Amino acid sequence: MRKIVIAGNWKMYKTQRESSEFLQAFMPQLESTPQEREVVLCPPFTALSAMSTSLHGSSVQLGAQNIHWENSGAYTGEISGEMLTELGVRYAIVGHSERRQYFGETDETVNKRLIAAQRHGLIPILCVGETKQERDADETEALISNQLAKDLVGVDQKKLVIAYEPIWAIGTGDTCEALEANRVIGLIRSQLKVADVPIQYGGSVKPNNIDELMSQPEIDGVLVGGASLEPDSFARIVNYK
Ligand code: PEP
Repeated sequence: MRKIVIAGNWKMYKTQRESSEFLQAFMPQLESTPQEREVVLCPPFTALSAMSTSLHGSSVQLGAQNIHWENSGAYTGEISGEMLTELGVRYAIVGHSERRQYFGETDETVNKRLIAAQRHGLIPILCVGETKQERDADETEALISNQLAKDLVGVDQKKLVIAYEPIWAIGTGDTCEALEANRVIGLIRSQLKVADVPIQYGGSVKPNNIDELMSQPEIDGVLVGGASLEPDSFARIVNYK
């Protein structure tokens, strides 16, 4: 059985106070959420400590939005695995397209971050996906195949989540058709050594498209940006039908 993982990526949104207000409204809505759905919240680093305290003993897991490959060192602005695990963090998003696009992440640094996350006992959520230009040029399959080949060198696939995130669908409201997301995720799965790696879809997931996305056989969860910022909206996504 593949695990279902539903993660909210808060990006650079929410102060510590706003995070706590979110939890007050969100947590009561999880009372009848099936236990086999793993719910993960990835707030900014500054909210991790307070959220870790609030979530203690709950079923919701904490995730970080990045992790550096060294254990410590002169890496201004970065965060280490030990700093995250000390706070009870269990997941780390790696290779998000915003990191690749705006902060110069390459497949090589993504690979190093994946390996570091696993070394610290964290489960990395590896993001892969094509731009609109690459899709229009029929390069989607080759691009993703290349990302997987480079990113996964030396990575233990038994401790991994992958998110298929077409870049043209992120934050645009232009969701990938459920059938197409299912097809690409099937292709991703066919390249993996381990059959039960959970593979999420991400890109403008909303309360009004979650049920259809989750009805697809290859889709094992979602990575949600904008719609995870509002408690009722993320609760509806987590409680998909
Ligand atoms: C994301 O940030 O990974 C994402 C999918 O964002 P959104 O849901 O806002 O498209």
